[in-house]
Amino acid sequence: MDRWIYLNGEFVKKEDAKISVFDHGLLYGDGIFEGIRVYNGNVFKCKEHIDRLYDSANSILLEIGLTKSELTEVMLETVRRNGMKDAYIRLVVSRGVGDLGLDPRKCPKATVIIIVEELAIFPKDHYETGIRIITVPTRRNTPDALNPKIKSLNYLNNVLVKIEANLAGVSEALMLNAQGYVCEGSGDNIFVIKDNIIYTPPSYLGALEGITRNSIMKLAIEAGYTVKEEPFTRHDVYIADEVFLTGTAVEVIAVNEVDGRKIGDGRPGPITNTLLEKFKSIVEVDGKQVFDVVQQ
Ligand code: PMP
Repeated sequence: MDRWIYLNGEFVKKEDAKISVFDHGLLYGDGIFEGIRVYNGNVFKCKEHIDRLYDSANSILLEIGLTKSELTEVMLETVRRNGMKDAYIRLVVSRGVGDLGLDPRKCPKATVIIIVEELAIFPKDHYETGIRIITVPTRRNTPDALNPKIKSLNYLNNVLVKIEANLAGVSEALMLNAQGYVCEGSGDNIFVIKDNIIYTPPSYLGALEGITRNSIMKLAIEAGYTVKEEPFTRHDVYIADEVFLTGTAVEVIAVNEVDGRKIGDGRPGPITNTLLEKFKSIVEVDGKQVFDVVQQ
């Protein structure tokens, strides 16, 4: 079956989805993106992702050229055309084609791309066992340089972290911020649990304000847990009872070892498992149905 990509107002086949070498997204990482999941035909937290994309655009003075509802509709249409009920959507908006200089005024029109793909970040058994992670020397970009709350195409910081994780033979790694506080993973937020209290770093420390993170916080509070957004250090991670990561791609995954220190008894803990189950129970309902306009 053909895979369709939305590219600047048209649906094109995957093999024909090409952009200019003068696109400033490629030349300078000048652009923004979102990663969104479709669960059984439901675009999970659709509004939240679209809002975050437009917030990122606003922050870098990027004119997307479509309203939120227009972009939402073409995104749903891209999912429909690909006939996928379970998928990962990548929205990419770059500054568009310009010249070789930095000046965005030379880019009259944004490039808008919507890709719908299957996605499996970690093998299934990793969710049953938990994963090993390390903290890496690369620090998170500071918010006063490039604010990590902007989901920009400038992901070199995160790519370096992934390389460091790869070199160490682990699946994911943890970044500290410039002050040495725990910040986030290369593509996910972190939670630690100590004495039944759930902690996650406040986003002002320099993490992306993850939509999965916010969902998990809400689910945890509804389940009666105390959730605190507080700065913490590597030491606090080492002595935690449970540690887990959250993100659109990874969903909720337990961490069983950090920098060689076993977490808890080395298996996904009870609160992590409870929150994962609660998360699974909302993903098919809390969002926007793709197939309610055109039934497949
Ligand atoms: N941090 C970073 C750096 C990310 O790239 C992501 C993935 N978007 C996250 C955290 C998790 O955010 P979300 O739950 O919105 O996917």
